[in-house]
Amino acid sequence: MPIGILALQGGFREHEAALQRLGADIREVRKPEHLEDLHGLIIPGGESTTLGHLIAEYKLHSPLKSLSARIPIWGTCAGLILLARDTPGLVYPNLNVLDLTVRRNGYGRQVDSFRTDASVPAIGSTPFPAIFIRAPVIDELGPEVKILSRLPSGSHNGSKRGTPIAVLQGRILATTFHPELTQDDRFHRYFLKLVHGQAPDGP
Ligand code: GLN
Repeated sequence: MPIGILALQGGFREHEAALQRLGADIREVRKPEHLEDLHGLIIPGGESTTLGHLIAEYKLHSPLKSLSARIPIWGTCAGLILLARDTPGLVYPNLNVLDLTVRRNGYGRQVDSFRTDASVPAIGSTPFPAIFIRAPVIDELGPEVKILSRLPSGSHNGSKRGTPIAVLQGRILATTFHPELTQDDRFHRYFLKLVHGQAPDGP
């Protein structure tokens, strides 16, 4: 059951390492033909304008969009930006498969990167070390989107407290932070459970 990782730009190697630790069969995706027979796909963090440009260049936009109706997809950070319905100022079109709008760099610039312990009941009872790097801020959520985690109080600046940071719509998972940069594999395990139809809170 191969899991694809979009390997055009950004943090794909860290996702690969996490899935390999869990014994998953992985495949780097750069061309439409690499999407064949996948059982799940991760769109990593990175730079959403560059990723959008390369997705257009490699003719991956409509294959990715149609794939999202068939298999679980997980977008982290820039990956979430691409999955979203709309992102003000994004030059390339969003995939528009996740019913939310998102603001790029909504927590500030690189120097405003931060880490916080987030409660994510769907993956376990102990807090998850969530790392935010020029992270997007989710604004408007559609009715189909379940919130798996919110920004806790005391992290970053108080004004964003309660903002959704991990969401699930059907089998589309999205996190504004970077689980692949930790050694805590619970989000990757959760994604594999989505692939196998066994995730708590999943469809
Ligand atoms: N700020 C980046 C963007 O807008 C995303 C950052 C990330 O993926 N860590 O594309």
